[in-house]
This record gives sequence, structure tokens and C-alpha cells, in this order.
Amino acid sequence: MKIAVTGGAGFIGSHLSRRLIQEGHDVLIIDELHDYYAIERKKRHLEWIEEAGAFAFYRKSLIHDADEVKSLFMSFNPEIVIHLAAIPGVPHSISVPNEYVDYDIKGTINALRFAGECNTKHVIFASSSSVYGEQQNIPLREEMAQGKVVSPYAAAKYGAESFCHAYASLYNYKVSILRFFTVYGPWGRPDMAITKFIKQLSAKQEITIFGSKTARDYTYIDDCVNGIVRSFRQEQRVGIFNIGSGSPIFIEELIDQLKVHFSDVNVKQGKFRQGDVHSTWADITKAQQQLGYNPKVSFSEGLAKTVEWAKNHETEI
Ligand code: NAD
Repeated sequence: MKIAVTGGAGFIGSHLSRRLIQEGHDVLIIDELHDYYAIERKKRHLEWIEEAGAFAFYRKSLIHDADEVKSLFMSFNPEIVIHLAAIPGVPHSISVPNEYVDYDIKGTINALRFAGECNTKHVIFASSSSVYGEQQNIPLREEMAQGKVVSPYAAAKYGAESFCHAYASLYNYKVSILRFFTVYGPWGRPDMAITKFIKQLSAKQEITIFGSKTARDYTYIDDCVNGIVRSFRQEQRVGIFNIGSGSPIFIEELIDQLKVHFSDVNVKQGKFRQGDVHSTWADITKAQQQLGYNPKVSFSEGLAKTVEWAKNHETEI
């Protein structure tokens, strides 16, 4: 199939693009290489994708080069558009909320419009567990997102989801809204806890945790990519799915597991951060039943793979 991936040079995008190329798809990547984290890192992702095979890449922005991106979509004519491009990160969204309106909302509107203009059959949108806001420590089902978000990042993702509904109706294509839960693994985003902790512990530095008894439904990158690929078979006009592991890990347990790999784990206690939620826990029943999605990598296994990767890429984490 012809598949366009926006944000394909990012963390999730690079793993996904490799998988699509390996499966024989014709892949077009549009990525502006935003400097939210090192551009060099994204260039390394592109080299890593290249090891999997040929693909087309254009360094273009859905915001700043909209007309060119539209032309690229029109000439490529993708059957599926996988829209991952966004600025991620909750804390940063509190500092520069308007950028999230531009990148995560307006960028999504452009991706949805260009997909419609070139008669795409299916758009897959990268949403986030953050749209659930702060809820009890219970598994989150898809219908439990009701706009009670606690950060500008979450507000932007929830807003972008509404545009997905609108454009699915306007253009008569299918949309899969996938809510990812804290994805980690090799080439993990440098601003995210697991990548940061492994980097700091490798350099024998202390790590800082924010709050106690917080929990995250950590999802190994290969499982996340499986979830995206499984959503190709989605049949509804708009299908919303949690893509998580289904098993929350408390911060204290994460630290215990890091001690398996590092001898000195010194932890500094910081205050719970504004905009964060205390816990995330995905109910993945819907994705299991409708997409055949089944996460396979346990947290201890995923962490071991990530630490091993980091040890082999010391200068790159
Ligand atoms: P990432 O920052 O590594 O990748 C995003 C990519 O999008 C970057 O390479 C960036 O340069 C590109 N980009 C941003 N704005 C663009 C624009 N206007 N035009 C073209 N390219 C643009 O982030 P990631 O962790 O790979 O996340 C991918 C998607 O999944 C994002 O939408 C993110 O919000 C969502 N998500 C990620 C997680 C996670 O745990 N990593 C969790 C929930 C949701």
C-alpha cells in the first residue's frame, strides 16, 4: 500500500516506518525535523529507517509549508495517512501553549484536509492517554474521555480528535484515533522518564521523580507499532482505541526494576508536576476485540531491551 507518515522521523514514526518498509509498503515521510529535541537525533532516525529499505522523505512542515505538503500528498496519493506529527510533552505545553494550537491542532487539520483532497481511504491519528485527564486509579475505557483535561497538550489532542470526527464526516474516509499510553523503547524520546533515567544512571547521576505512588501504563514501542498496523483493519467511520499495555507500573516499581540494571540508583524526590496526572491505566479490551491487538512485551523485558540498546548507543541517548 501507499502510506504517508507525518512525523515519520520521530521516535514512534521511525519504528513504524521501518516496519512498513519491511512489510513492502511504499512509504512517504513528511517531517519538518522540529527542534523540540535534537535535530541530529531525528537525522539518525532517518538513517536507521534507511537500513530497512527505500522510502521517500521530505523535510516539510504541515504548518509552514502547507501548500507543498498538500502537493506531495496529491502526487503520492496515499491509501492511508498516519498522522503522528505534533509537538509532544506536557510540561513544555504549559510554557508555550499557543505552539500546541499551531502544531497539534492546526497541523492535524491540515493533515486531515490534505488526506481528504487526495481521496485517502483511512487516516490514523496519534492521540494520547492524556485526553482522559485526572481520573481514579482504574482502567480507562475509550468512552471515559470527556474533555476534563489538565494540560494544554491534552487539550490540543482532545481538540484534534474532534477535528478527526468532523473531517471523517466531511470527506467520508475512515479515521482511527489511537490513544497511546507512555511509549518507551530504543530511540525513546529524550524528554521522557525512562530514556532520561537510563541516560542519567549510565552517567552515574541521580534521577528525580515527581510525586510518589504515580503510575504509568508503559507501552513498549513494538507493541505500539503493532497497534498502529492492526488499526489498518478498522471498519468504523471513526474508531477510537487505547493502545497501551493494560498494566500500570508504579514509579516505585520502575525504580526497583532500574536497580536490576544499575548498581547505584540515587533518587531525588521532586514535587508532583502541574499538568501531569497521577495515574494512567489502559483498558485495552476494545483494541483486543476489534483490532486483534495484543501487547506482547512485559515491562521487565521491554526495560531490559531499552537498557541494552542504550548501552550500545551511549553517545546517542
Ligand atoms: P516525536 O517528537 O519523536 O515525533 C514527532 C515528529 O513530528 C517529530 O519528528 C517532529 O519533527 C515532527 N513534526 C512536528 N510537527 C510537525 C509539523 N508541523 N510538520 C511536520 N513534522 C512535524 O514524538 P513521538 O513520541 O514519536 O510521538 C508521535 C506522536 O504520538 C505525537 O503525535 C505524540 O503526541 C503522540 N504520542 C506519543 C506518546 C509517547 O509516549 N511517545 C504518547 C501519546 C501520544
